[in-house]
Amino acid sequence: MKNLVLLGSTGSIGTQTLEIADAYPDRLRVLALAAGSNVHKMEEQIRKYRPLFAVMFEEKAARDLKERVADLAVTVLVGMDGLLQIAVLPEADVVLTAVVGMIGIRPTIEAIKAGKDIALANKETLVTAGHIIMPLAKEMGVSILPVDSEHSAIFQSLNGEPKKRLKKILLTASGGPFRGMTREELAGKTVKEALKHPNWSMGRKITIDSATMVNKGLEVMEAGWLFDVNYDQIQVVVHPQSIIHSMVEYVDGAVMAQLGLPDMKLPIQYALFYPDRLPMDTNGIDFFQLGKITFEEPDLETFTGLKLAYDAFKAGGSMPTVFNAANEKAVSLFLQEKIRFLDIAQIIGDAMNEHKVIENPDLEQILETEAWCYELIESRCC
Ligand code: NDP
Repeated sequence: MKNLVLLGSTGSIGTQTLEIADAYPDRLRVLALAAGSNVHKMEEQIRKYRPLFAVMFEEKAARDLKERVADLAVTVLVGMDGLLQIAVLPEADVVLTAVVGMIGIRPTIEAIKAGKDIALANKETLVTAGHIIMPLAKEMGVSILPVDSEHSAIFQSLNGEPKKRLKKILLTASGGPFRGMTREELAGKTVKEALKHPNWSMGRKITIDSATMVNKGLEVMEAGWLFDVNYDQIQVVVHPQSIIHSMVEYVDGAVMAQLGLPDMKLPIQYALFYPDRLPMDTNGIDFFQLGKITFEEPDLETFTGLKLAYDAFKAGGSMPTVFNAANEKAVSLFLQEKIRFLDIAQIIGDAMNEHKVIENPDLEQILETEAWCYELIESRCC
């Protein structure tokens, strides 16, 4: 039996994780849940899974939740302190981090320090603090198990092969809802249009990131940290059908891939039960119906967010934090309809141009860089 702490339980990854707990009640025990403000869903989850702890990040939400579940034996905690407390619970075996944004960094670091394995969906954590997290995980002997479907595919395709045999990673991308369009066509795209992903149903922020292809840029950096490879060993391959979830090319030219229908439950389940591979109630790929799959080069001139991600990764230090924080802020402004679609990458590029890189930033410097970036953008727009 594994004891699970789930950060971001009310979101897209969080709710799918709980479906896996439904399928394997004898293998997975939900010890603690955390969310931002969605009290209604949290109450439902508490009544169903009976965790010992529940965290609401927002104070008012935590107060409300306490009243709603006063009849149950659950301790309700609040804010970052609450997240940090459940991340290190002595009974916890694995912490699945599915919060959105840089808020995931501190709980992840504390969980690693407490010796917990991490099932990592929250890519922003590795993008900004990979240089702290990966060595710490090694030192503490804990596993960082990828939940992101591409990284799970790479992990499965590597299957323990030594790094020296790896030539490059082929990171697949659906291309999002605006694949093949020109900048002129992108200029007028609305929030509603950007939220219509062709293959995946995900949270709002990552869906916008997929439309700009910033998500793929974040994934390039995430792959760099997870698999200890350079940016020039990671090639993005646009594959609109999202059947191949990523591939690795070995030094002898052999390419290994993991294929499957676009369903996050498989990589979540794989991360939770690794090294086991447990049955899942799902239809396999019907290759005859699928007929063919296709591949394209990414268009970096149109989707400049992806190019900027490579630039940020090359610059290193605090630059990926600027890339990520500027994107978080810009996506939030776009979702509020305060800026246009193409402004997102423009804002990221402007923030990167203004930033002087801090080499090897510590956690405080990462958070200061995030705050600097937010202030810069707020002072300039809307
Ligand atoms: P969602 O927006 O659907 O869910 C986010 C979750 O985080 C919600 O439970 C939300 O709570 C919670 N949350 C937000 N802010 C806080 C906070 N300050 N403290 C505690 N909890 C908070 O996001 P996704 O599930 O789509 O994505 C989560 C992460 O996983 C992201 O980093 C994303 O990039 C990554 N990912 C997602 C994939 C997907 O298919 N969705 C695929 C691969 C990676 P509330 O509901 O109360 O706001």
